[in-house]
This record gives sequence, structure tokens and C-alpha cells, in this order.
Amino acid sequence: MRPGGGFARRFIAGEDLHEAVAAARVLQASGLSITLDYLGESVASAAEADAATRAYVGVIQEIAASGVERNISLKLTQLGLTIDRATCVDNLRRILDAAQPGGFFVRIDMEDSTFTAVTLDVFETMWQQGYRNAGVVLQSYLQRSEQDATRMNDLGARVRLVKGAYKEPKEVAFQSKADVDAAYVRIMQQLLLKGTFPAIATHDPAMIDATRAFARGQAIAPSRFEFQMLYGIRRDLQAALHADGWGMRVYVPFGREWFPYFMRRLAERPANVGFVIRGILRDR
Ligand SMILES: Cc1cc2nc3c(=O)[nH]c(=O)nc-3n(C[C@H](O)[C@H](O)[C@H](O)COP(=O)(O)OP(=O)(O)OC[C@H]3O[C@@H](n4cnc5c(N)ncnc54)[C@H](O)[C@@H]3O)c2cc1C
Repeated sequence: MRPGGGFARRFIAGEDLHEAVAAARVLQASGLSITLDYLGESVASAAEADAATRAYVGVIQEIAASGVERNISLKLTQLGLTIDRATCVDNLRRILDAAQPGGFFVRIDMEDSTFTAVTLDVFETMWQQGYRNAGVVLQSYLQRSEQDATRMNDLGARVRLVKGAYKEPKEVAFQSKADVDAAYVRIMQQLLLKGTFPAIATHDPAMIDATRAFARGQAIAPSRFEFQMLYGIRRDLQAALHADGWGMRVYVPFGREWFPYFMRRLAERPANVGFVIRGILRDR
């Protein structure tokens, strides 16, 4: 199953970097910013984590040569977090060392709640070692995230705020949309007031309206934060926000390991399943 030309292509820019760079160029030409995500997660051995790290370093060099924006997103389980923390830290350091000289920004995506504490700890370790070209993601569905936002704001670290994409138990996560949204608004306000260039990542018009209203009310300039959305989702809203003068970055995923990412996008919106089934029938 390939995303290229197929039904997954709406959400994934392609299997190789050339396709992703082409998609990034189109977005940048229309005034949007981008972050490239070389898809991968949950590698099963140190050798696979090493291979993923080497591949990511290669991707960094190719992005630099391509001339598109130097902003990438990655997952720590792609770098061996499930194998052991030391391997993952070593691999992350290799990537940050490759990224830093070229002025890349590296966003560490957030995975399921079994990885929240360790992901933030690994990030903070790198931060204390002087790596400042990286940022984290906080999920508003997690009850702990307001405290984590305070911790990241105190560090001066850049946070991307999302609702959260994994199925989480009630012991750690809000279960109703109303609670997740209310927490999203509270954390958004905390980040806009005290954070460092936060990213408000959502396709939800209510969250976007709340952010714009809060920024205007507090006289927070649009240059102090940005909106982010996923490739292929609410392109109309992406264009409208940009046209209205707000910063808008699109997360552009690519690579052969696209299946788990794709499944999360389907789970978020039942209507996507119909879209995919129609695509499969068309592809036959
Ligand atoms: C830039 C970016 C980076 C992200 N990084 C992470 C991360 O590191 N960790 C993590 O757990 N999650 C991440 N997410 C996903 C996020 O947690 C949510 O699962 C996802 O954004 C859907 O939530 P929402 O805020 O758009 O609001 P929702 O209330 O879920 O959706 C609001 C509206 O957006 C549209 N929409 C939302 N999702 C879809 C979809 N899949 N297909 C079509 N339309 C859709 C629909 O119109 C929907 O009504 C990221 C999201 C973005 C935008």
C-alpha cells in the first residue's frame, strides 16, 4: 500500500523526501510555514533506532540543500525510547548536533501518556546541556499538562499545544470534548501570556477563535505565536488564517512508515473512513 497517488495521499506528502519538499514548496509559495516530519515510531531494536537516527541526519542535510524551511518534527520512540533512555538521548543528541549548525528547529512530538514524563525529562536534559533549538508538545487532554506548561514556560521552552491523538484512560486524561477544550483554552492562555513563541496546533474553529480573541484582548501581537495544522486538513482555514495576518505552520509528514500516523487521522474523524473507502474503491 503506497500513499503516493493513493487514498492516504491526502494526509501524507509522499514516501520520499523529494515529494515532501515539493509539497513544502507549494505551501511556502502560498505564504505558509512548514515543519517536515520523517515518519517513524516505536522501533524495536537499538540497531533500528541507529538506522532511523542516521536516516534523520541524512534528511536534515537534504532539507538544508533543498532550501525549504529548516523545521522538523520527530518522535522519541523513533530514536529508541522504548529500548532504553540512554540510547534515545544519544540519538537525539546526534540529531540536534546535525540540526543546530544549519539553524534547524526540532520539535519533539508527544506520544501516548506512558511516554509523557520521560519525553519531557529527556527534553529538559538536552535543554540543560545547552540545546535550545528544540521544543516540545503538550496535550490538553492530559490532566498533568497545565503543570507541564508552567514548567516549560519557566524553562523558556517552546511548546506546541494540541488536544492529543491517543486513546487514554480516565485516570490520566479528560474524557469529554468539553473538558479537553476547556483545558486547551486555559493552557493556550498560559502559553500566550508566559510562553516562548508557542504553537497553537488545532483545526477546531472554536479553539482558534478563543486564541484570536485572547491575543487581541491582551494586545499580544500575532508575531509572538503561531497556529499550526496538519497537512491536508482544513486547508481553507489554513489559507484564511494566513490571509488574516496570523502565522500558520503546516505539519508535513512523509516517509514509508506512514501507517500509524494515517490511522490516528482516521480515528479523529469518522467521516475520513468514508473518504478512504471511496479512495480504495477508486484505486482498484
Ligand atoms: C501541527 C500538529 C501537530 C500535532 N502533533 C501532535 C503530537 O505531537 N501529539 C499528539 O498526541 N497529537 C498531535 N496532534 C494531533 C492533535 O492532538 C489532535 O489529535 C488533532 O489535531 C485533532 O484535534 P483538533 O485540535 O483539530 O480538534 P478536534 O475537535 O478533534 O477537531 C476539530 C475539527 O477539525 C477537523 N479535523 C480534526 N481532525 C481531523 C482529521 N483527522 N481529518 C479531517 N478533519 C479533521 C474537523 O473539522 C473537526 O471538526 C497534532 C496536531 C497538529 C495540528
